[in-house]
Amino acid sequence: MTNTSHPRARKPAAAAKATIARPADTRPAPAKSAAVVASGWMHTARFLTTAPQLHHLPPLDVPEIAFVGRSNAGKSTCINTLTQQKQLAYASKKPGRTQNINLFSLGKQGVTDAVLADLPGYGYAAVPKADKVRWQQVMANYLVTRENLIGIVMMCDPRHGLTELDEILLDIIRPRVVDGLKFLILLTKADKLNREESTKALSIARLQAGGGEVKLFSALKKQGIDEASMLLWQWAHPEGGAAPAATTAEAEAEEPENLDDAEEDR
Ligand code: GDP
Repeated sequence: MTNTSHPRARKPAAAAKATIARPADTRPAPAKSAAVVASGWMHTARFLTTAPQLHHLPPLDVPEIAFVGRSNAGKSTCINTLTQQKQLAYASKKPGRTQNINLFSLGKQGVTDAVLADLPGYGYAAVPKADKVRWQQVMANYLVTRENLIGIVMMCDPRHGLTELDEILLDIIRPRVVDGLKFLILLTKADKLNREESTKALSIARLQAGGGEVKLFSALKKQGIDEASMLLWQWAHPEGGAAPAATTAEAEAEEPENLDDAEEDR
């Protein structure tokens, strides 16, 4: 009995065919893998601490990146989207924490290699004047004196443009940006703009950013997420660092909740 009719006898030919059919290099493009690494890293974000005053913040020697923005600019949604977590930045909205600086650790295997600082949203009309003044002092002190601060991300709703408080904040940080502090303006809710409005918003913000970068961002349309994540990763790892081994599962995005803007104009 010969084995030519046995199913195994046909296998080598099939395997050879499959090998020929496969493209020579199936590895992801470099840009894609950098995005996966950055997104996996962002996903490690976990609550570290909350502080009502600058002196309550622990001194840290890892790079810190601050998120600032007018109340309702989309800061919490942006942080949750970048970290692919539904509730992380909403921890900053808990009563008692809204006027605090909330820190989140980043880093694989529980080893913190950077920190995100969620600063209180400003410009909320219902906040008493004394609280606004207190906020401005805490914010200004933080931005001027925090030693491990390496970058600032300012969230701005492009339909409103930069507000007076955004401008004040820009004036505060400008000297540090000149000295090398990284700065990014994210134009949030970009899904609300058409192409022409987006182009216009980008060029206006670029004039105001004074050396910083400007990018369009939409949590709803998942626009600008990879670019922002990669930029933050590069800020925190200027020497390239040991790239964390991101897995697909870790980099998997969760849907942000309640992106209905209906109640945004409080
Ligand atoms: P925060 O006060 O700056 O933290 O702002 P939130 O993250 O709470 O967002 C304020 C409002 O804007 C909420 O109603 C969000 O659903 C809405 N929002 C946030 N991001 C987006 C977005 O990308 N697209 C749209 N259409 N709405 C968004």
